Amino acid sequence: MVTHARSPITSEIDFEAEGKQHGFLRLPHSVHRSAYGWIPIPIAQIKNGEGPTLFLMSGNHGDEFEGQVTLTKLIQTLDADAIRGRIIMLPMANYPAAKAGMRTSPIDDGNLNRSFPGDPDGTVTQIIAHYIEHVLLAKADLAIDLHSGGSSLHYLPTVLFGARKDPAESDAILKMMRAFGAPYACRFARSGEHVSSAAARRQGVASITVEMGGSATVSMGSLKVTEEGVQRVMAAFDFLADSNDSRVSPAGSTRTVAVSSADCFVYAEEEGLFEPRVELGEEVKAGQLAGMIHTPEMPWKPSVEVRFKESGLLICKRVPARVERGDCLFHMGTELAL
Ligand SMILES: [Zn+2]
Repeated sequence: MVTHARSPITSEIDFEAEGKQHGFLRLPHSVHRSAYGWIPIPIAQIKNGEGPTLFLMSGNHGDEFEGQVTLTKLIQTLDADAIRGRIIMLPMANYPAAKAGMRTSPIDDGNLNRSFPGDPDGTVTQIIAHYIEHVLLAKADLAIDLHSGGSSLHYLPTVLFGARKDPAESDAILKMMRAFGAPYACRFARSGEHVSSAAARRQGVASITVEMGGSATVSMGSLKVTEEGVQRVMAAFDFLADSNDSRVSPAGSTRTVAVSSADCFVYAEEEGLFEPRVELGEEVKAGQLAGMIHTPEMPWKPSVEVRFKESGLLICKRVPARVERGDCLFHMGTELAL
């Protein structure tokens, strides 16, 4: 059992050992039904000799599934002799949330991707965040955090990426984005200090976050992009022993956009039933009608128009039709030439 000085989590796998290992990160959790119990967070590592470390994570939000399917299949099919270096995979990062199929943990309501850098003395979600940042990312050179839109959003298959102060890290991130080869890529300005990309930045790890589908389901098209993207990143950074590995397909073209202002996000300003007037992948103009918010509980009340404040490409939309004030309805990216 591998312990860490600050974290209560112990690991069943030895991160320094060669070969393929799988097991659990054990997070002690004493509750009514299990006095001396622990939460079993599944983890796998494949190591073959010296070389850099790739950290792959999904289930950061528990209702985002393409990444969980991708890593589950990869853990079953990838063998040590097929790789060089080390690949660490954490398919259900916020295990309690992923087990429940929820964005946040049913134990402490924790949103893992708002919990970094975490706290080893904090709640279950904060302890997981601390371990990911200070133990797992601390071992990594590259990282991919596999997301989707979850229960409330749906994304076109999009790589989210950012710039770093360190030019070598920025270059590696661009190389990862291009290698992943999703149809869309969106450059974000800083998304705050509590997301996984900030944790990766603090650990000097080049990282991308990918948003693959959503709607609390597994869409076949988005899953294909996810699986192929992960293989291409492994190939581009020489993690595959066979440079002609047949699992690696050529990348398609990627359209790059940017979140250039807060107006790239369109919010409901009324409560009601949202009727969209545009679809994902459409180019929209500032001032254009995005949709209508109706009030069927008082159908005589005039419906309210929602209009875009920015021009760009729609890469994300809300899924549930009922909306409350403050819900995100659409998110776009403005043209970005790289
Ligand atoms: Zn997510």
